[in-house]
Amino acid sequence: MTPHPSEAELQQFALERSDSEVSVVEHISSCEQCKATVTIYQQLVLSIGQQEKPSFDFNLAQLVLDQIPSPKKSYSRDNSIFYTIAFVVTVLSGVIFYWFSEFFAGLLLSFGSLFMYLLAATAMAILIFQGLDIYKRYQHKIKDLDFY
Ligand SMILES: [Zn+2]
Repeated sequence: MTPHPSEAELQQFALERSDSEVSVVEHISSCEQCKATVTIYQQLVLSIGQQEKPSFDFNLAQLVLDQIPSPKKSYSRDNSIFYTIAFVVTVLSGVIFYWFSEFFAGLLLSFGSLFMYLLAATAMAILIFQGLDIYKRYQHKIKDLDFY
């Protein structure tokens, strides 16, 4: 009877039988002790394979869930805020300019043109400052969101 193969040879046999030397294969097939060792190695390899694959699948799914929906969600939410502000500002300025043009056409007869331009400039300044304020608050909200 040949001497027992080394631990490395037994591991090699457990992993890939066809890569082992003929003498090793012949010894293991006739030696209960080496057969038992090889069985332990094979069970070890199987259990490692069974443990690693589900944990990888879980982590991958968790990573995908963590990464993809949250930036998408906040992106569309930011966009909706921006479009709502843009829509409100557009409609408001349209209404105000329409109303003012009618209003000033009537006022033009009784008030001086300087007063009209002053009023128009004030209205414009208020609109611009309100727009800037909304824009600043919007930027602050974006900064707050970035911290999460
Ligand atoms: Zn042996």
